[in-house]
Amino acid sequence: LDALTAVRSDLVAANRILGREEILDAFGHVSARIPGEPEHFLLSRARSPELVEEGDLLEFGLDGEPVADGPRSYVERYIHAAIYAARDDVTWICHNHALSILPFSLSDTSLRPVIHTAGFLAAGVPVWDIFDDSADTSSLLVRSIDAGRSLAKCLGDASVALLRAHGSVVVGRSAPELVRRCTVLDRNARVQQAAERLGTYRPLQGPDGAPWQGDPDATNPRDNRDWEYFQKRAGLR
Ligand SMILES: [Zn+2]
Repeated sequence: LDALTAVRSDLVAANRILGREEILDAFGHVSARIPGEPEHFLLSRARSPELVEEGDLLEFGLDGEPVADGPRSYVERYIHAAIYAARDDVTWICHNHALSILPFSLSDTSLRPVIHTAGFLAAGVPVWDIFDDSADTSSLLVRSIDAGRSLAKCLGDASVALLRAHGSVVVGRSAPELVRRCTVLDRNARVQQAAERLGTYRPLQGPDGAPWQGDPDATNPRDNRDWEYFQKRAGLR
């Protein structure tokens, strides 16, 4: 497979998997930077992720606009454009509205790593509030490249940012890593909420409450066995 063919195939798979795993529902989206063309990325036309097929994939520039006239695209494509423009290290992005993480976007309680696979959360999870930096707050949707840039600035070097009362963005360097981070984020959020209900709990942290130096790569399986597992569950193999 050439690199572009592989990315197109992985992008369809990531859409189907994240739909199947209920990280995405009717809404939300996944994108991938085009190999060898860092100024362009692929994103489906406006369609629910679990239904996405290769023929739905459209090409966009880092201004968030499609490179050619075509079918209707997602309103919030600017999220992807602005993060790719700000982060050379990022090649995959998911924007989702997963229910488990939403309470942490609203509460004084920060989302913190509480399970062993959540090392990528150890550096902190910033929360972006569209009311802080945008005149267009009627829908909370990221409808412009300026709003996208504001979100990308809040994300900084992190792997995840929350959008208050809306959802999250998750970034990665491959389709398996993106899917892994999205699913671990969801599980971590559910475990943290359950632990909070039990009473006092200790998030993962170092001695004397120092931040946990979780290695984001420590639990990446070298054989991508979780990618294979999620493909199976999504009916892709
Ligand atoms: Zn959204």
